[in-house]
Amino acid sequence: MATINHVKTFLSQAIDGADDATVRWVLKSIWDESDECSFQAAQYLLVHDPEGQVTYALKRKASGGPPPQESAHKRAKAEDDSHEAAQPPVPALKPRYETCEHCSEVYDVMENYDEACCLHEGELEIDMDHFVDDDEVIELDGAIDTSTDWRVEAYPYAFTWSCCDGKADGEPCLVGRHEPTQTTIV
Ligand SMILES: [Zn+2]
Ligand SMILES: [Zn+2]
Repeated sequence: MATINHVKTFLSQAIDGADDATVRWVLKSIWDESDECSFQAAQYLLVHDPEGQVTYALKRKASGGPPPQESAHKRAKAEDDSHEAAQPPVPALKPRYETCEHCSEVYDVMENYDEACCLHEGELEIDMDHFVDDDEVIELDGAIDTSTDWRVEAYPYAFTWSCCDGKADGEPCLVGRHEPTQTTIV
């Protein structure tokens, strides 16, 4: 009979071999199964948002009216607002992992320090003088894809950033914190 450790060994291989979309689908399916699974997922994927708006838990339908010591005025108001009942406040939450609007990297908001985001905002331009013997570059008139072409890493001195005139392997000229892409959570 299979033990849980036996299953886990195969499960680990299966997770490593699955594509991102499948793993996301499995995770969402699991957390839908129970509140306990949702809280487990939240511990890894959510953090408190100190700047977020405090929201309030909805009042349970069968919780009755306000406590008897409250004044009639307050009681009437509470009844008016019965759909937004004043249950204990809960802190706002936000995703722990976000995609940076500037560098497009996924980052951990708990480790988003002042110099976490480093990039060039310009284009990487080729210096044709370094490629007079390269038939492919000459044929393309220098229009190679600098984000993937092997020559950038092999000859960093032959490429210049338009933003700061730095070479391909030079220090990024923009440094700061990552900022999230603008998404709205409903
Ligand atoms: Zn630059
Ligand atoms: Zn960034």
